[in-house]
Amino acid sequence: MKKNDIVITDIISFSSEGYGIGKIDEYVLFVPYTCTGDKVKVKIINVKKNILFCKVEEFIEKSDSHSEPSCGSYKQCGGCTLLHINYNKQLEFKKTKVEDAIRRIGKLDVKVHDVCPSDCTGYRNKTLIPVGLDKNGKITCGFFRRKSHDIIDMDNCIIQDKSADEICKAVISWMYEYDIKPYDFKTNKGIVRHIYIRKAFSSGKMMAGVVANADKLPFEKELAEKLAENPDVVSVICNVNKKATNVILGEKTNILYGEEYLEDTLLDKTFKIGSLSFYQINRNQTENLYSKAKELLKLTENDVLYDIYCGIGTIGICIGDNVKKIIGVEIIPEAVELAKENALLNGIINSEYFVGKAENMSFPDNEKPTAVVIDPPRKGCDKKMIDTLLELSPEKICYISCDPATLARDLKIFSESGKYKIGDVYPFDMFPNTEHVEAVVLLQQLSLPDGK
Ligand code: SAH
Repeated sequence: MKKNDIVITDIISFSSEGYGIGKIDEYVLFVPYTCTGDKVKVKIINVKKNILFCKVEEFIEKSDSHSEPSCGSYKQCGGCTLLHINYNKQLEFKKTKVEDAIRRIGKLDVKVHDVCPSDCTGYRNKTLIPVGLDKNGKITCGFFRRKSHDIIDMDNCIIQDKSADEICKAVISWMYEYDIKPYDFKTNKGIVRHIYIRKAFSSGKMMAGVVANADKLPFEKELAEKLAENPDVVSVICNVNKKATNVILGEKTNILYGEEYLEDTLLDKTFKIGSLSFYQINRNQTENLYSKAKELLKLTENDVLYDIYCGIGTIGICIGDNVKKIIGVEIIPEAVELAKENALLNGIINSEYFVGKAENMSFPDNEKPTAVVIDPPRKGCDKKMIDTLLELSPEKICYISCDPATLARDLKIFSESGKYKIGDVYPFDMFPNTEHVEAVVLLQQLSLPDGK
């Protein structure tokens, strides 16, 4: 088997990235945009030992789980890796992905429930849209072609909120009117890098603006006025990013009009969100996920709840409004300041939030947790964090994860400690049409009657 060979294979499973997998002798074939049940003629693009990366030449048999992709740019953009299969199949794939991780990596025999479904379109409440020139030198915005800085002009991204179209039009018309150049990655020159839009789905209000390669945006008042013509825009911002980097947002944001923060609600609690704050992308599904965490933890007024990796405090505040005390930990100082404000905004006075790496924190001796919620980034928990939790030994731990592989790795450590019983796994589809899946699990201390 070598590069450019043409072979025929059955697609028998999915990889965790959502690629179809075929097998021929000792070779494993990865074939994007296929589905289990397909028989495909493929071209080998790349060979790494016994792994073959392939491209479909022809579908010989096509599974009836395929669906007509509702976006013409999905292959070039690369964001919606699963748009070629129907939603039921997407959910089945995500459940299997979680089950595989739990069994193979976690070596655990626990029940994985069906994936909680979500709206599949218009679910993103935040978008950062690259701005550049098209082949004809026209200013355009859209998405970067996979692994490049070429912009694909995309009128309608199905997963983003429709109001983005109007904001993009306004920014581009301002750029033409005042001769503002888009940023060019090759020369690190030009001004406008991205269009920024974040929407509070509870009210329809928006924070909108640009990411610019300039400390002060030229004609910023005019941009503010133009965007503020939209009555839903309550804040116009310019984020400053002058670095030649793929990181989208810079550290500083100038407010050009209106509010410094956007407010949204989750489970009837109100949250102030800054331009740089982490905030869950899919609000409706976040409410489902937090409700599940609340149901599993069954917090009472006797509980001391630790909210670890707390961001702007959303989880603890949503699920722990009845507890004795909330203690939050988060690495980003601005997020911690907002968590403190958000707690007060929701009438929670018995809370404390700390800045720092969760794994290096020394927690107050007199306020040991009875319950913990952990919501780490994709890489999961630091081993030191798990050791600290095992030592603190709370009655219950709710683990919220955005990566089944690191979740399974961490659950294995908790399980092998002999101190915790791992409960059922509840997956949630936060990002329909992509390969990502979120999950919630309750861990119960084994010495307690309930955990037996
Ligand atoms: N629970 C929040 C945020 C979850 S995202 C919410 O649902 O909105 C994960 C958070 O962990 C981010 O806010 C990130 O800044 C923070 N973080 C990442 N590494 C960390 C570490 N080592 N210690 C503490 N916080 C960390």
